[in-house]
Amino acid sequence: MSKGNINVSVENIFPLIKKFLYSDHEIFLRELVSNATDATTKLKHLISIGEAQTELGDAKIEISIDKKAKTLTIKDQGLGMTMEEVEKYINQIAFSGAEEFLEKYKDGKNDTGVIGHFGLGFYSAFMVAKQVEIFTKSYKDEPAAHWICDGSPEYTLVEHDKSDRGTEIVLHIADDSKEFLEEGKIRGLLNKYNRFNQVPIKFGTKKVNDPNHEPKTITDKDGKETTEPRKQIEVDDIINNTNPAWTKKPADLEDEDYKNFYRELYPMQFEESLFHIHLNVDYPFNLTGILFFPKLTQNLDMQKDKIQLYQNQVFVTDNVEGIVPDFLQMLKGVIDSPDIPLNVSRSYLQADGAVKKISGYITKKVGDKLSSLFKENREDFEKKWNDIKVIIEYGMLSEDKFYDKAKSFALYPTVNNTYFTFDELIEKTKDSQTDKDGNHILLYAANKNAQHSYIEAAKAKGYEVLLLDSPIISHLMQKLETSGDGKVKFSRVDADHIDNLIKKDDTVISKLSDEEKEKLKPIIEAAVPSQTYTVQLESLDSNAFPFMITVPEFMRRMKEMSATGGGMFGMGSLPDMY
Ligand code: ADP
Ligand code: MG
Repeated sequence: MSKGNINVSVENIFPLIKKFLYSDHEIFLRELVSNATDATTKLKHLISIGEAQTELGDAKIEISIDKKAKTLTIKDQGLGMTMEEVEKYINQIAFSGAEEFLEKYKDGKNDTGVIGHFGLGFYSAFMVAKQVEIFTKSYKDEPAAHWICDGSPEYTLVEHDKSDRGTEIVLHIADDSKEFLEEGKIRGLLNKYNRFNQVPIKFGTKKVNDPNHEPKTITDKDGKETTEPRKQIEVDDIINNTNPAWTKKPADLEDEDYKNFYRELYPMQFEESLFHIHLNVDYPFNLTGILFFPKLTQNLDMQKDKIQLYQNQVFVTDNVEGIVPDFLQMLKGVIDSPDIPLNVSRSYLQADGAVKKISGYITKKVGDKLSSLFKENREDFEKKWNDIKVIIEYGMLSEDKFYDKAKSFALYPTVNNTYFTFDELIEKTKDSQTDKDGNHILLYAANKNAQHSYIEAAKAKGYEVLLLDSPIISHLMQKLETSGDGKVKFSRVDADHIDNLIKKDDTVISKLSDEEKEKLKPIIEAAVPSQTYTVQLESLDSNAFPFMITVPEFMRRMKEMSATGGGMFGMGSLPDMY
């Protein structure tokens, strides 16, 4: 038996651990399960290289609650520790980790969201336990050890008669942490952090139908048939999937597997995703994952179904700010990387070279995927456009590299449901839609119904009219206008450009005589609320009203969203064009 004092410079570290980690108490379970997982995978490795002469068996991790004894136990069948190793790894190494942590975060109370990412390790058990016991037997032929520590720097270490290999951590839960003796609470935590853990985790048992029992159907004397109930058997309740889709090779997965994984990841999300992107890189950093483009038209719970960040299949956070570029945070899915530093603040994260590379890589992969979807099946891409356009347009505005790539597949639909890329559109309209100053005018409408009359007028003249209704499109138009030769201009179809465009076979003839126009003009102008409106007494199309009141394009853009952009005379007030 040995009694000892943990060698530490901060006297009585445990109250401090409690205080500084208050909001993140729950991570103790993730830490202990991670240690149990490490112990199991390390043993597996030792066996595979012939270091350890033992069988791994169906090594699993078992979590159990004893409400009477007020204990929570985490048990593994991993490599275990000898007495010496407990001294070294628990009393020295684990403790130095805790101490280092405190040094760093003593004053960092406000840096919330970071602390929980930091692997405080074994000692985080003291956030919820007033006493911790370790029973451990190494795979080596040596006596087992029993370590007890009650939350002060003193500990006891004695030999024990435990005979099965592995480690059992028993937490005597503190009175202010009783919630961790509730089955529902622990199940919830295991589900949050460990549902894709590499080693199976057993939490209690469950009843399932006995696969070896075929229920008999009995016919009674009246000829009535009854089937006997299925026999049930009790099996381990394994809470995790040790082989989630993102850890597999893309070549080994079918479309259906990705769909199933999406459902597995977001069980409450009934809408299927549009498509997925499988990330897989091992140089210059390690990263795997699967990202999904959701259907944005559906009322998604953006807060809930976010991208989840994992480290070696252990959940870390669903706040991927800084790691995934802003415009892709609307995506769903998982990224898993051991190379993302978690023990640092967000501002540091944004400046970190590795993280920048990761963010750049993800952006590139998304761009490549979109590009290949566009090339391989344009028709399908056009169908999806409405659901993905906001993300792509946002990306084009915020990331120049993405803009360069997306320019070749971003689409501009017309009111007739034809989809042009920007280059196609330019090519199609370059001869027919220039004004007298040589500007190349691209006409668009934001609302097909409200602008019906102008659209018809423009169509009658043979112009292409785009239907652009996404919320950030005006910013993108500006970017497209300024990034070319400066000659391309977007113009709302109700602006006064329609008449000014030069077109050779201009065949639309006004239905009004000059005399009629002369008489009407002052009457209409008197009814117009502001001088910035222009009154046009020209029937632009036989189906349309014979008068139009328009506002110049620059005025309209200045008023942005809610401007009264123009309207048709005779309708009472000027209708809102949006
Ligand atoms: P880390 O996991 O980052 O090394 P911890 O404080 O979590 O730090 O654990 C310290 C050390 O204690 C581990 O590196 C390991 O050697 C040992 N250890 C902890 N838990 C177990 C376990 N369940 N089985 C075997 N060794 C363990
Ligand atoms: Mg650990």
